Amino acid sequence: MLDQLWQVIALVVAIAVIGVGLVVGLLRGRRGKAPSIPARTTPTRPGGAGRPGAAGGADDGGGSVATLPGGPVTTTPGAEAPALPDLEPPAYEKPESARGRLARLRARLARSNSAIGKGLLALLSRGGLDEAAWEDVEDTLLTADLGVEATTELVESLKTKVKVEGTTDESVVRGWLREDLLRLVDPTMDRRVASTRVGDRPAVILVVGVNGTGKTTTVGKLARVLVAEDRDVVLGAADTFRAAAADQLATWGDRVGVPTIRSEREGADPAAVAFDAVKAAAEMEADVVLIDTAGRLHNKTNLMDELGKVKRVIEKRSPIDEVLLVLDATTGQNGLEQARVFADVVDVTGIVLTKLDGTAKGGIVVAVQRKLGVPVKLVGLGEGPDDLAPFDPAAFVDALLD
Ligand code: GDP
Repeated sequence: MLDQLWQVIALVVAIAVIGVGLVVGLLRGRRGKAPSIPARTTPTRPGGAGRPGAAGGADDGGGSVATLPGGPVTTTPGAEAPALPDLEPPAYEKPESARGRLARLRARLARSNSAIGKGLLALLSRGGLDEAAWEDVEDTLLTADLGVEATTELVESLKTKVKVEGTTDESVVRGWLREDLLRLVDPTMDRRVASTRVGDRPAVILVVGVNGTGKTTTVGKLARVLVAEDRDVVLGAADTFRAAAADQLATWGDRVGVPTIRSEREGADPAAVAFDAVKAAAEMEADVVLIDTAGRLHNKTNLMDELGKVKRVIEKRSPIDEVLLVLDATTGQNGLEQARVFADVVDVTGIVLTKLDGTAKGGIVVAVQRKLGVPVKLVGLGEGPDDLAPFDPAAFVDALLD
């Protein structure tokens, strides 16, 4: 009887132990299947420069901000890398390749500058060229902003050809014009933009120009050109005087997954932001850093002080490989005057002519190159994001003669 009782108790205990085991096992099993926390995603292009936390603060305690697609991340000098919020990788735009851009934009150039080519062709192939006709040729070239020196050279060359060849056949005249214009635009100049790493550091491009010329837009468009060429780009918003400039630049960067180093404080020291951008680009192992600057030309001494300081402070950290001067092609002689002032302050290595789509003054390409002795490297031909093209002398002259 007692034996039976013990057997029953043992059975009950065994059932209870098995039951508890089953419940615990079940609970454990469910916890094991709990959804895993997604790994932190980094807002960067594949292999890109937008690694989080790589942006350092200014050595002067500026504490710039790296605006990565998805929002700004504040950095403090000497502090640990900041934590990034979890983000889904955003879908970036795919900018158009730089190759062939001028071909696409050629019609715009031809439309606004047809006065040069078509006007000259009409005058020259009319035949019976007297002094008055040659004066018209001269006027056409001067109106197109070719400049007095280049105009005189071209007219002399054409006069000689007409005299020697004794023909004004349109196709022959077109050939002469093409040859002479191309010589004036100078296809031998090196128009490459320094945008690959130099040794173990990123290339540094400083972009200068008077406000309103299209400087910030150009930096944004150039970032797209470089992204299309698979470069890792960092932007530096050192135009700290115009309230919207940093936002404008960060928006350009965001669209193609390029980080922007900026200050949250309006009127912050532009040199400190430029320094931070160069430092961040080096830490991110980027290929190239593009620095937008302010161009308040109301006072040359101011400009000298400001730009001079930006240059000096950057050079404490890295040599500057390229200084691009942005000029608005519609401003004619004014633009040339601006070019001279900037060239006095910084060593301009290339010119970006913007708004060539809206002017019949394409001759400015020749005039400005002669004035500064540096090549036009890029041309702006519209307000679209991919309306910036590498300057190609032959395609340019052909568009003028279209
Ligand atoms: P910033 O003050 O020099 O930085 O000038 P912005 O970049 O803000 O540009 C001033 C204006 O010029 C903007 O409306 C741009 O869209 C316009 N712009 C810039 N480049 C071009 C261009 O190549 N063609 C045309 N038509 N407009 C341009």
